[in-house]
Amino acid sequence: MSVGIMGKIKASLREQRFIGNRLRLTCSVKADWGLPDELFFDIVSDQAVAPPAGMNHFALALLVPAMRAGNDLEIEGAVSARLLQALNGELQVALATFKKSLSRISVSASTILPEMASSRALNRGCATGFSAGVDSFATISLYGFEGSRRIKCLSLFNVGAFGQAGAVGVSEVFEKGGLQLREFAKNVGCEWVLVDSNLDAFYAKGLNFPSTHTIRNASAALLLESMVDEYLYSSAFPYNEIAIKPSPCIATMDPIILPLMETESLRFRSAGAHLSRFEKTEIVSRNDMSFSWLNVCVAPAADRMSMGRNCSRCWKCNRTLVSLDLIGALEKYDRVFDLEYYRQNKRSAVRSAALRALKGSKIDREIVEHVKRSGYPLPSKAELLVVKTFARLRRLVEKKLRRAA
Ligand SMILES: [Zn+2]
Repeated sequence: MSVGIMGKIKASLREQRFIGNRLRLTCSVKADWGLPDELFFDIVSDQAVAPPAGMNHFALALLVPAMRAGNDLEIEGAVSARLLQALNGELQVALATFKKSLSRISVSASTILPEMASSRALNRGCATGFSAGVDSFATISLYGFEGSRRIKCLSLFNVGAFGQAGAVGVSEVFEKGGLQLREFAKNVGCEWVLVDSNLDAFYAKGLNFPSTHTIRNASAALLLESMVDEYLYSSAFPYNEIAIKPSPCIATMDPIILPLMETESLRFRSAGAHLSRFEKTEIVSRNDMSFSWLNVCVAPAADRMSMGRNCSRCWKCNRTLVSLDLIGALEKYDRVFDLEYYRQNKRSAVRSAALRALKGSKIDREIVEHVKRSGYPLPSKAELLVVKTFARLRRLVEKKLRRAA
């Protein structure tokens, strides 16, 4: 990367074509430094997908890599006037405040997309991502599949959530998620769309998934302009934790930055941002579909082979199980969790939540408050300290052993 001289990233449309039922959109990228020379999005759906009118998705996808390089971004194609304004102004300022390694640049497009004035009145419904987790199930429960604010389409994007672009096993995990999505969509009678991409390859070191996922996913969501008029991006943090400030998680800015990625025909909303995770779990526990579909587990796929949907042992399974237990809904989930294992190990599950609360996790602090109110014995500070010290020692020994191996 050249220092002092402002480089340029030039993106131009290469092709839009159907390969069977797959619509492939490719854009050629010219940069002064090591970016891949092609960015693609592949769209597969049970519905006919119209090729997008402009290059909104490419422009948004390349904004962060260009800011990271300190290079101006030149789009040889049409971009929405509304989006282009935010890409040059509000969105950049928010991102540069959030991440010090991002600098202000200029974003230009050779033409402005003609405004589709009538599209907003069509009321084409909403789309949302489906991961089967608590946040995603809360969105589905809040909006439903009927009425004017209905979810019309469920989506899954391969833009980094499943691992690095091109890494071993990533496409298999994405494929598995795609099958789950199709099966669920069929069950609820709704449309589905899958977007595959090499976008992750443009997000080099320092632009990891937790710190950039909203931008990555919104880029893919912009491809749904012809199908829906709103994309519901499930919130990860409630409003009282939202701010524009340095953080490892971009989701702490979602309600602020999502509208900055809108075009004239697609809106974004941080769905469920008015609720805490515990409140979301309560809502999800009243949704019958979740009893057989809820999937919160973060254990590696290989470790879960024999365990069904959730391992019931990882921190995320633990947290969800304790919440469901407090809500009084545990029994409903015997198809997706190992409830017997949980009951035998409830004390340690509560202890790990208390430990995370002690480290500052607000989600776990709320759970601990509910545990306290329920009368279940909480571990003492001394006990937590001992557990914490042992955990640290274990990590140290493991690290030493790995080095020695
Ligand atoms: Zn798990």
